Amino acid sequence: MKLKIAILAGDGIGPEVTLEATNILKAVADLGGHDFTFTPALIGGVAITESGSPLPQATLDAALDSDAVLLGAVGDNKFGALPPDKRPEAGLLQIRQALGGYANLRPSVAYPALSGNSPLRPEVTEGADILFVRELLGGLYFGAPRWWNRESNEAINTMRYTRDEVARIARIAFELASKRRKKVTSVDKANVLEVSQLWRATVTEIARDYPDVKLEHQLVDSMAMHLMNTPRNFDVVLTENLFGDILSDEAAVITGSLGMLPSATIGGTVNLYEPVHGSAPDIAGQGKANPLGAILTAAMILRHSARLEEDAAAVEAAVQKVLADGHRTADIATGSGSSQPIATTQQMGKLVHNALAEAIDRRHAMHAV
Ligand code: NAD
Repeated sequence: MKLKIAILAGDGIGPEVTLEATNILKAVADLGGHDFTFTPALIGGVAITESGSPLPQATLDAALDSDAVLLGAVGDNKFGALPPDKRPEAGLLQIRQALGGYANLRPSVAYPALSGNSPLRPEVTEGADILFVRELLGGLYFGAPRWWNRESNEAINTMRYTRDEVARIARIAFELASKRRKKVTSVDKANVLEVSQLWRATVTEIARDYPDVKLEHQLVDSMAMHLMNTPRNFDVVLTENLFGDILSDEAAVITGSLGMLPSATIGGTVNLYEPVHGSAPDIAGQGKANPLGAILTAAMILRHSARLEEDAAAVEAAVQKVLADGHRTADIATGSGSSQPIATTQQMGKLVHNALAEAIDRRHAMHAV
């Protein structure tokens, strides 16, 4: 298996966590005999310092010439006085736009070992494993007209979708659900909004091509409640842009730490993979960053770009094992009751690496007999 991965480590803790994620990808390549190549490129504040632009042309070229892009995080307070389109964060918006992904995938998993980290009771979160599939290029964020008239004190945004935009994201949700627990929950506000009625009709139509996947519709307001009451009832949750933005953040409390959350944006020219967290300037350079969100993001590269499902699952299992063994970075140490010393970013990466290598060795030994 050949894969060209552009590594855009970015600012703050971005390079620290991206290094650990890259080490995991290298280990999968070495142990499985795959040919992964890694092309580092600059984005964000480091790119401004080096070249004057948060997304230099060379970075865009490297990204477009790759099979997958792994992005750490961008953001550096020292550029806070610059206009928004010149700041580090502009590089992130520009690359997302240039790669054109329309499907944002965000898993929300309750790790048994971290049940004390979620504000929800363990018996509520137990067994929760949700994959949000959020439409990313349509809806209120992009619909026209949009304006704010300061004279008349009136403003407008437009929630607009076409059938084709809904159909393509629905297909992604059903494809993913068919490889998971075979259930799609489609979220809308069809009791009030025409755009949601189109959404519901289209999703229902696409569902006919996936008879083995169960479809249910939920109104967004009751969904917000069900997510917290019975998170384990959901498998794939399909949403338009704004609803997905809000609900996926809400569901992050199931996992309990920002440092644990991965994401992928697929469907464009090149898939873009990023941990959900930012550059965390408050802990940058101190070895305190939790690399597990970035490592779980690497697992998503293996699943969605390399199509190495077994290896993706092995990385996720290695993370679970390290947590079950009581290892914690500072952000997830509270309430764990673990007697293990707090792990640094590098130590956590190494622990996952060791657990993964052992699992892959065992798998090879089993295949050999
Ligand atoms: P943040 O995600 O960087 O940090 C929020 C809090 O969570 C901080 O206390 C931080 O220490 C902690 N945290 C985040 N990731 C962690 C990890 N892996 N391990 C341990 N603790 C972690 O959000 P913020 O403080 O609002 O923003 C900081 C900068 O990052 C800003 O410049 C912002 O614009 C940028 N940002 C970038 C992205 C991105 O690159 N995708 C996302 C959000 C924010």
